[in-house]
Amino acid sequence: MLTIYRRHRKSCKQRAKGRKYRHCQCPIWVDGALSGKEMRESLKLRDWQRAQDLIRQWEAEDRRIIQQEKEVTIKDAHGKFMADAQARKLNEATLYKYRLLFRQLDDFAETQKLQFLKQLDLDMLAIFRAAWKDGPRSSLKKLERLRAFLRFTERRKWIDHNPAIELKTPKVPNKPTMPFTREEMIRILTALEPYGKSAGIRNAQRLRAFVLLLRYSGLRIGDAVQLDVDLVADNKLLLHTEKTGVAVYCVLPDMVVKALDAAPHSSARYFFWTGKSTVRSAKGKWQRRLQRLFGLAKVPTGHAHRFRDTFAVELLLAGVPLDRVSVLLGHSSIRITERHYAPWTRSRQEQIEADLKAAWSNDPVVLTDGKGTPELQGKTGRIN
Ligand SMILES: [Zn+2]
Repeated sequence: MLTIYRRHRKSCKQRAKGRKYRHCQCPIWVDGALSGKEMRESLKLRDWQRAQDLIRQWEAEDRRIIQQEKEVTIKDAHGKFMADAQARKLNEATLYKYRLLFRQLDDFAETQKLQFLKQLDLDMLAIFRAAWKDGPRSSLKKLERLRAFLRFTERRKWIDHNPAIELKTPKVPNKPTMPFTREEMIRILTALEPYGKSAGIRNAQRLRAFVLLLRYSGLRIGDAVQLDVDLVADNKLLLHTEKTGVAVYCVLPDMVVKALDAAPHSSARYFFWTGKSTVRSAKGKWQRRLQRLFGLAKVPTGHAHRFRDTFAVELLLAGVPLDRVSVLLGHSSIRITERHYAPWTRSRQEQIEADLKAAWSNDPVVLTDGKGTPELQGKTGRIN
């Protein structure tokens, strides 16, 4: 608290009335404490109103500083979040994505001159989000990470409520699964020849093994890159172990196993990875090789994930039940498989119906309108 008073000059006629008297023109002084520091000094002002305005301004500034010292900064908050995430042993890929988000958030805070967590209100978050260049799916994932981060700060009472909850989630169109047609598969494999001419025969062999593995195991590209040589034995590939502890194997066609054996391995332990670089960078290399191959094969929409789709869809069309395809894909629930591959379970159903119609059309009983059972005729549909 600060108080002001007049420090009467010797010549002041009101001097005897003491410092409480203010209706003279003597210099105004201030007395009290600011930020815990005692002060008593001249304001170099004579106008009472102006002096009062000045100290009010000082006091307001002081309160703001005290408040700010208690405020958590954005940088502090995400630093603590990351430390916690590491302690929770989140996997490296997830940590990487959080780091990416925080780097972006720091850049944004700098441009917007934001320092404190509380400044990240709904308006600011909306501006932040509007600048994202991600597609709807990655955008949704990023928003989930932003929410998780702010939820973390809310639980610690660094903010009063999580504004990210009110950010509307982007509409994610159902990504159509696009298996390669059989013709496209052949074009991709044929393109290995021109690929080998420029990249060398050994690299073409390696890429061929990689493509066949993706197509006939349904592995995700990251898992294919990290595939341990020891996981393939007697034509069987250990895909994963279910929560119940049951191992799930995929039987590989002979030609896939031969291709894997024939191709030079990247290291003693892995088919396609030195084990020295990050999985991320190895994955990137394979993705670029695939893109080159898709270019040569004139399949411009080619993507590693489409081999997995091809694996799943071909199985469904061959009549493998959805729940078994789901196990092979390692989905945590059959609902995920259903959502991804619904169109193909439908075409499977259409196939079945066509099969049945074809079979009935040759059935002698159907062809004779069920004659031969005359006493039953006419009774159909009547119940009594
Ligand atoms: Zn005076």
